[in-house]
Amino acid sequence: MHQPGFTGGLLDRADPLRQNPDLLAAAIADWRARLLVLDNYEPEVDAAGRLVWTTMADVPEGSELILLGLDEGKPCFAALTPGMKPPAGRPMRLFAMIEQLAPGEAATYAAARSVLDWHTRHRFCANCATPTVPFHAGWGRRCPNCNAEHFPRVDPVVIMIAEHDGRALLGRQPAWPPGRYSALAGFLEAGESIEGAVAREIMEEAGVRVSNIRYVASQPWPFASSLMIACTATAADDALTLDKHELEDAIWVSREVVREVLAGGDGPFLPPPPYAIAFTLLTEWANA
Ligand SMILES: [Zn+2]
Repeated sequence: MHQPGFTGGLLDRADPLRQNPDLLAAAIADWRARLLVLDNYEPEVDAAGRLVWTTMADVPEGSELILLGLDEGKPCFAALTPGMKPPAGRPMRLFAMIEQLAPGEAATYAAARSVLDWHTRHRFCANCATPTVPFHAGWGRRCPNCNAEHFPRVDPVVIMIAEHDGRALLGRQPAWPPGRYSALAGFLEAGESIEGAVAREIMEEAGVRVSNIRYVASQPWPFASSLMIACTATAADDALTLDKHELEDAIWVSREVVREVLAGGDGPFLPPPPYAIAFTLLTEWANA
């Protein structure tokens, strides 16, 4: 299978260290400990496609440390620094860097970005509105008033292609670059199964009834903290009724067309970028 972007992380997440303040203090003091170099939320990437790290001497004043994990025993941290701001939008420069990153490196960056983003957006207790403090080596926040514990959230998203008579349904959102078509997608709602969300989203966006929903792969998507769950489904027929708020257009494409487009050839649409799980999903479907 084409490995989904942001997967295959190489760090040991080292849960025992998160739970033991003495072990965590020893990890911070370890001479091998290293700090992820970030400019606000953006990584620095070297010529070999690896994340750039520095020593703990460079931890900015007033930072909280997040233990990302152990790399062959070396403790790896990210710093939650005062003044960090959730970035507005997604600069193209960032995606150019992500394309350069080796797969395991992108997974490390995704974890760091998601958890840092969660901290900056969740500074107050959801229960009593008191400012919270990090605990669990940066993998949680605790309320000093009501003792509630809060943990980084993950928002599940289903992304899927419906198939009918050897063709896949692809849609295009108005904000996408000209010509881009991809799998349909949407957030799971409370109380919903993956299968239920897939069927609902395809019906809502394209007016197509599906069955035989199958899981293909998943990926964390760190903008800000989604878990993309890729599926395929079988459509009852190919008549489309588009929700124009969600989809500007939708098309049915054959395996031959998808293979040609994914290989960089000409076709009726531009494919999703290789680090997006839609690319993995289309690749798996086209080669099935
Ligand atoms: Zn509270």
